[in-house]
Formats: sequence, C-alpha cells, structure tokens
Amino acid sequence: MGITLEDYRDVTPPGTVDFLRRLARSVEGKRMLHVNSTRYGGGVAEILHRLVPMFEELGVKARWEVMAGSDAFYRTTKGFHNALQGTIQHITADMYEAYLACNRENAQRLDLEADVVMIHDPQPAPLIDARKLGAKWIWRCHIDLSTPQRSVWQFLRPYVVRYDAAIVSLPKFAQRLPIPQFLIYPSIDPLSDKNRELSVEEIDRILHRLGVPRDKPILLQVSRFDRFKDPVGVVEAYRLVKKSHDCRLVLAGGTAVDDPEGAEVLAEVQTAVGTDPDVHLLLLPPTANLEINALQRAATIVFQKSTREGFGLTVAEALWKGKPVIGGQTGGITVQLIPGVTGFTVHSPEGAAFYTKRLLNEPDLMTAIGRQGREYARHRFLITRHLQDYLGMMIHLSQAA
Ligand code: UDP
Repeated sequence: MGITLEDYRDVTPPGTVDFLRRLARSVEGKRMLHVNSTRYGGGVAEILHRLVPMFEELGVKARWEVMAGSDAFYRTTKGFHNALQGTIQHITADMYEAYLACNRENAQRLDLEADVVMIHDPQPAPLIDARKLGAKWIWRCHIDLSTPQRSVWQFLRPYVVRYDAAIVSLPKFAQRLPIPQFLIYPSIDPLSDKNRELSVEEIDRILHRLGVPRDKPILLQVSRFDRFKDPVGVVEAYRLVKKSHDCRLVLAGGTAVDDPEGAEVLAEVQTAVGTDPDVHLLLLPPTANLEINALQRAATIVFQKSTREGFGLTVAEALWKGKPVIGGQTGGITVQLIPGVTGFTVHSPEGAAFYTKRLLNEPDLMTAIGRQGREYARHRFLITRHLQDYLGMMIHLSQAA
C-alpha cells in the first residue's frame, strides 16, 4: 500500500510520530517476533499487517510467524476460545494432548529467535517451552477473560505464568498472575480502507450501490448477527424513534454462512423488521471495508447496542468518523463512550431511543459529541497509540532484570 509513518502525521495528535521515533531509539536494532495462528481474518491479523512494517520503519527488526495446525487443533483452540470467554466447553484429554503436540511441532518448525517475543492469544501459548535464555516473552491476550471456564484456564495458566509479562485489553480481563500485567487497548488504523477519509462522491456512490437512499437520517449498526450484539433491540429502538422522527435503519453484518447461530439471529431480525422499506439489512462479505467505511460516514447516529462485548472496535471506528455513538453499557464500550461527551451508554431499547431522539432534536449537541468523539479516538484508539504502548513495554522489559 506504500503507507509510511510520515503519513500518520496528519491524523495523529501533534508530536506523535516524533515521539514514536524517539521512543524507538531505545530499542533500535532489537529483534521482535510476533506469533499468532492466522495470517488473514480477524482483528489480530489486521493490526499485525500494519504494526510489523511500522516497527521496521522505526528500526526494530520485527518479524511475524504464523503457527500451523490441523483441523483438530483449530477445533480445540476454538473450544478454548469459547471456554475462556465463558461458554462451557467439553475439552477431552486427547484434545489437550493434540494441542500440546501441535505446539511442540511448531516450536521445531518456527524461527523463534528474537529479543522480544509476543505470543498472541491461547493457540501458541505453550511455545514458551522454546524460550531461549535472555529473550523476553510476552503473552498478548486479545480475548475476554472476565469469566473463563476454570478448567481451561487452569490448564493454560501454568504456561502463562512463565512469561515475562501478560497484556490484556480491558481491566476486567486481568487475572491473578505472579507476572506483571499490562493493559493495552486495541486500536484502529486511520489509514486503512475501513477508516480512511472518503470523498462525498465515493460515499454517495457506495450508498447508492448498497441501495440506501440518503433522504433522511440514517441510524446504523455494523455487527455480526450475534445475540450479544442485540440487533433485535436495535430494531425496537428504531421503531420507538420512528414514531416521532422519520429515519432509516441500516443493519450491516456478515453473511454468516458458516455460523448456524448467525443465520438464526438473522432470521429473528428479519421477522422483527417485517416489510418496513426504511430498514435495510445488508449482508456484507468480509472484504467490504470501503462499504463499512462509507456507511459509518453516511450515518447520522451509530449504535452498538451490545449486551456483552469484548472491546467493540466498531465504536472506535464510528467515533473516529465523528459520529455520536449510542452503545450498550458493557465491556470496552464503556471505556470508549463517555456519557454526554463522546456518546451515550444504555441498558435498553427505550434508553437507546431516548438518546437517539435527543440527538436528532439537538443538532448542535450531535455535532459537539461527534467532534469530541473524534478527538478522543485520535488520542486513545489509533494504531499509533498501540505502537507507543508496545514500544514502552519493550523498553520497560529490556530494562527489567
Ligand atoms: N465487521 C465487518 N463486517 C461485518 C461486521 C463487522 O468487517 O459484517 C468489522 C467491524 O467493522 C469491526 C470488526 O468487524 O472492525 C468487529 O469488531 P468488534 O470488536 O466490534 O466486534 P467482534 O465482532 O470482534 O465481536
């Protein structure tokens, strides 16, 4: 894509790029390795595609290795993922053994030689067995560990405690561990197709192609069709608003072909919507970054009415586009939405409708909240801040005994 650090000067707080360069001097020439389990798909891979070249530009010798596994391995780690996020799973002794065997194979196959090794998520956690003397190993957990299934966490914990540090994405994901734990929020890339500036013509063209007229205010939620994202609650909120304010509702989400529950939730939403021509259910492919960008920019108000959420990157994406956001009072939404300043948090469709109407009635408030949200996102949720945190952590660890 040819994007360089200099390109971030225009979108980040003044001094950010210079500060990154200064910080990086302390770790110049260090070899940093990231290991995760997928090159494409998912937020972790997306962020690594940008972060690794940024580290390189800063003089850190950054590499990224991807572990390989069989279907059985991924089924097991998917089970781990669900269990650690609080859905009870049955993991058999054979599954645990296959998981460890796969990690042993990867330890042989991968080049794990580096000064700082960042292991992302549970899949490669046992690679710690291959640590060489002097290297600093960090376990970077991106998932919601607030209510883990005990048995799975007890299995994983002995590996985690051998790391030099752990990183979680929200305070409530922290665990009782004898190693230092750091809190590092996820981030969005302001220069990616999903978040970069779009011209009015581009936005118009995309909305036209998606069949969404721009004749009245647009309320939007971008989310997988998942019950925790509460799309039906969004439809209920829209109906309450619609009694007094003419508007459209756009619910955009993935096609969910491989996710039976997704198809079920989508059917529930379709039933709730009925034949209302002002509600647009858009099934987007995973590559629809420009479409999501255009929808977020065309929206008047953005919802993320989740009843349970990890971090909620869609909130940061909308804040960055200067939109007032109304979100469920849960997970990372609560650190992004400061009530009355960057958005509003709610517990019900009625609450969402109340704040939607208030914003629609007060255009000045909407503008102010949008502006404040963008500045908040600029300081807290951009990839440059993420890079800064990682550099700070590298410096800290390289100075620790
Ligand atoms: N997203 C997407 N297509 C969809 C739905 C969501 O590309 O159909 C994107 C969305 O823009 C965001 C991410 O997927 O970048 C979802 O992250 P979030 O943290 O909001 O929720 P998660 O799906 O991880 O629970």
